[in-house]
Amino acid sequence: MNERILISGASIAGLTLAHWLARYGFRPTVVERAPAPRSGGNGVDVRGNATEVAERMGILSRIHEFATDVHGMKFVDAADRAVARIDTRDPASIEIMRGDLVALLHEVTDVEILFGDSILGLEQDDDGVSVTFEHAPARRFDLVVGADGMHSNVRRLVFGPEERFVQFKHHYFAFADTDASLGENRWVTMFNTPGRMTGIYRSGNHPQAKAYFMFRSAPLRYDHRDVAEHKRLISEAFGRESSWRTRELLDAALADPDFYFDALGQVRMNSWSDGRVALVGDAAWCASPVSGAGAELALVGAHLLAGELAASGGDHRVAFARYDTAHRPLVNAKQRIGPNVRLMVPRTEGGRCVRDVVARLPLMKVIGAVERRAQARNARPLPEYALGRRGNGA
Ligand SMILES: Cc1cc2nc3c(=O)[nH]c(=O)nc-3n(C[C@H](O)[C@H](O)[C@H](O)COP(=O)(O)OP(=O)(O)OC[C@H]3O[C@@H](n4cnc5c(N)ncnc54)[C@H](O)[C@@H]3O)c2cc1C
Repeated sequence: MNERILISGASIAGLTLAHWLARYGFRPTVVERAPAPRSGGNGVDVRGNATEVAERMGILSRIHEFATDVHGMKFVDAADRAVARIDTRDPASIEIMRGDLVALLHEVTDVEILFGDSILGLEQDDDGVSVTFEHAPARRFDLVVGADGMHSNVRRLVFGPEERFVQFKHHYFAFADTDASLGENRWVTMFNTPGRMTGIYRSGNHPQAKAYFMFRSAPLRYDHRDVAEHKRLISEAFGRESSWRTRELLDAALADPDFYFDALGQVRMNSWSDGRVALVGDAAWCASPVSGAGAELALVGAHLLAGELAASGGDHRVAFARYDTAHRPLVNAKQRIGPNVRLMVPRTEGGRCVRDVVARLPLMKVIGAVERRAQARNARPLPEYALGRRGNGA
């Protein structure tokens, strides 16, 4: 029962889910809007049970190989002098460029992937789901899972409009490739004016660097898929700033075809499933990039969802409920994002001065260590799911 499973989105959540479903003997198909796995983005963290998921998938050593080795955040003044540094290193966490992680997951996931396509319509009945695509012929599946990010198409089609589920957190952010010589090796350098941050993410193990922008704003109306419009918005926010390296970073961002822009938002849902359709990853619970938990939640959540489907013999009613119960405590904990945004983007000049003083105190290190200890104490072991439905699982 429930063998053919369509997954929308070939990123961290979608590929992890497809990998595990295939290992458990299901027949997953992935549909991805982009023509190939999307490679953009900054570093993401693999920690906690996500490390165990990566180990079980056989990619943990490769993740270590690609690790970024970033030491922390450095705040600078307009003359590029460091005014404060926060060491964010965590021995229990591995940071890897998002694109590298997606490439590793793609390598170990041997399933049918329909690139350059998207679900147009879904109709569920007692026996399955009829799916129409923008390009591929219509097909029938037993279950459908939306792993298509914060602006999920599946969530919109089945659960309702985005505004019901995405809470805007008063900021927009953007990443783009830039000249590595602009930033200090192994540090995320940040420069602030009130309500704005320009930065350079510079990993120790990569030749490239990322320009990083964040600004406080009322909600803006724009098409979240229109890159030209995103570039116009970032130009409007930073185009009049000439201090520090903002001009060079902005020029690099506007020239980058892989430019990535989004609202800082969180997805809150009471249930991650409706009948034969479920959600996983940012589509279900996006905690926002400032949580630093997107990859961790996606890896663990996708593993749990596949495992519960296998453990229940493919019974989606049982599996979807167990998946929700098992994963929600971690999601709730990670959605409490604390003072991260205020640290990165102080609203006023006074706030920036206070931030710089606080950042110079050893306090931040102590808070980080206390948080990590609390998380380790509350951690639940990752379930080991039995052999797959056809006896060829993990
Ligand atoms: C290009 C990019 C850059 C990112 N950069 C960062 C970063 O620097 N830092 C950070 O913390 N997080 C970043 N994120 C988000 C991060 O990947 C997620 O928070 C987290 O890893 C969970 O991943 P996910 O698989 O749930 O969602 P996502 O990684 O957002 O992936 C969603 C996938 O669904 C695809 N998709 C979207 N719409 C459709 C559709 N209609 N049909 C089919 N496929 C669709 C997208 O192309 C994408 O591949 C980025 C996401 C993307 C897509």
